[in-house]
Amino acid sequence: MSDTVNICGLSIKRGEKLRTMLPIHDTEISLPLTIINGQQDGHALLLTAGIHGGEYPGIAAAMELGCELEQNQLSGCLVILHPVNIQGFWARREFMVPEDGKNLNRVFPGDEQGTLADKIAHLLSSTFFPLADFYVDMHSGDIHESLHPYVYYPGQPTPEVEAKSRSMAQVLDMEYMVRSLATGGAYNYAASRGLPSILIERGGAGLCLPEDIAAYKKDILNIMRKLNMLPAPLKATPAYSP
Ligand SMILES: [Zn+2]
Repeated sequence: MSDTVNICGLSIKRGEKLRTMLPIHDTEISLPLTIINGQQDGHALLLTAGIHGGEYPGIAAAMELGCELEQNQLSGCLVILHPVNIQGFWARREFMVPEDGKNLNRVFPGDEQGTLADKIAHLLSSTFFPLADFYVDMHSGDIHESLHPYVYYPGQPTPEVEAKSRSMAQVLDMEYMVRSLATGGAYNYAASRGLPSILIERGGAGLCLPEDIAAYKKDILNIMRKLNMLPAPLKATPAYSP
């Protein structure tokens, strides 16, 4: 990737870190954004948390990683939105964007002229997905849902996108991987555009447990090691055979 990341009028040079609020077109709403442009060249990894605003462990992990990771540790660029559905987060709502009652994960690729959910989806589709080489979307069971941790990778795109997505899923400390044949959701849309993508599910029931946050951070660091964005060797995890 090029030395300077240019996005939404922001310019982040190699070896710079930016934490800011990104305005949504034609609204008064802004999303928390962290961009860490590493000292060395490498892949661009996009991380989204809180597309469902009541799924807390991924949001907390994304916020902590944005604080803790420094540009001098990194090769490539880490871009984090935390949380994407910030209105749902503040309203403690399941699934929906409160302003329009839409499930943000069901409106991709979105519409710049649409309602708030459509605008946010459009911002991701038109601006963030094209910037990224890999994409990880962090979910949980929603406020009313418990779940056992698992990861989806897309089975719908090209064999190459599927293989690259699956190789990210394989470094997670998970019992279950699901090859998804669905077409909905941010990660499936991104994969259909050629971006290797996964969706992780950890935690839930409206809780934000330290062990779920820690496991989530370990997931992301392992993915970054796999992508050679961090120098430490990839920690071996049990082999998964479907
Ligand atoms: Zn979700």
